[in-house]
Amino acid sequence: METRVLSADQPGCAEAAAKLLQAGELVAIPTETVYGLGANGLDEAAVAKIFKAKGRPQDNPLILHIADPDQLELLCHHVPESAYLLAKLFWPGPLTIVLPARDIIPKCTTAGLPTVAVRCPDCEITRQIIRLSGTPVAAPSANLSGKPSTTTAEHVLNDHSGKIPLIVDDGPCRVGVESTIVDLTENTPRLLRPGGITPEQLKEVLGDLIVDKAVTAQIDKDAVVKAPGMKYRHYAPQCQVIIVAGSRERAAAYINSHFVPGDRVLCFEEELPLYKDCSPLTYGSEADAATLSAGLFAALRQLDDPRVQRVFARCPTGGGIAYAVQNRLKKAAAFQIIDAEAVV
Ligand code: AMP
Ligand code: MG
Repeated sequence: METRVLSADQPGCAEAAAKLLQAGELVAIPTETVYGLGANGLDEAAVAKIFKAKGRPQDNPLILHIADPDQLELLCHHVPESAYLLAKLFWPGPLTIVLPARDIIPKCTTAGLPTVAVRCPDCEITRQIIRLSGTPVAAPSANLSGKPSTTTAEHVLNDHSGKIPLIVDDGPCRVGVESTIVDLTENTPRLLRPGGITPEQLKEVLGDLIVDKAVTAQIDKDAVVKAPGMKYRHYAPQCQVIIVAGSRERAAAYINSHFVPGDRVLCFEEELPLYKDCSPLTYGSEADAATLSAGLFAALRQLDDPRVQRVFARCPTGGGIAYAVQNRLKKAAAFQIIDAEAVV
């Protein structure tokens, strides 16, 4: 199959994408978070193609994307007031809400869960495509399962060339990490995945917010967790990734003394001069965490190269969007962290 790449501003782009979705085909769609691999979320056979193309475990449910916030009720029941409040404040935007699923949603979309994850993306072309297709679009990140997520059309082409009919290209993703996921099906809201809408923003609206343990620690692959996707090794290049924590100077001392050929350094822009003998790769500025989230996956993809044996990575600390960057990088590192302050 030939994979066409259509620019979002090309006339007829949304119509072509919607037509393919209606015919049960896969279309890679841009969003403000990452590129998604989309299918008609109410068509079991179409959804099955997503799992096959990604090599995604069957127990990992998909997010349904809607064109307009008021479509939430078509997919969910027992919608609490807090969901409407979040939707009003943050939709369209990088927030996914988990609620009890209506029966029209096929089991393979929710991986058999009684709940469904819904999001209204902040991307004009994609909302136009969803509107024209007349159906919610199920779309996980478009990367092959386990690989770093796709933040450009080229990333999608690298993973799916010849296997899907269409990629809609709307340039690099603005946020660069996947949506925040919040579960509103229990008494207290639960953060299942940090993202572009920060824990601080959610707390301001919701009051209480439990951070699920899958956000902060490695989860056993046989464990029963709230967001099944969070237990798999994720976002990772083929090689070992080690986070080196601590001050700039201590981390540089540790990395420079342990660096051998085949290693790479992934660091903040401000740190480039400290690693001049290690051909460092930067993913953004520590002073502006939004640049780190926008640049992280492209950098991890660049490091996904058989010549790279090990990556020493610098990870931001603190809240806001930096919290989401930490989560992705720690997962890519399988929570392997060296504290440069503690080693001699
Ligand atoms: P992706 O879009 O590839 O980032 O994957 C979707 C994420 O949403 C995965 O981590 C899933 O586990 C999570 N997810 C989807 N549906 C649900 C649900 N009903 N309950 C909890 N998590 C979900
Ligand atoms: Mg994903």
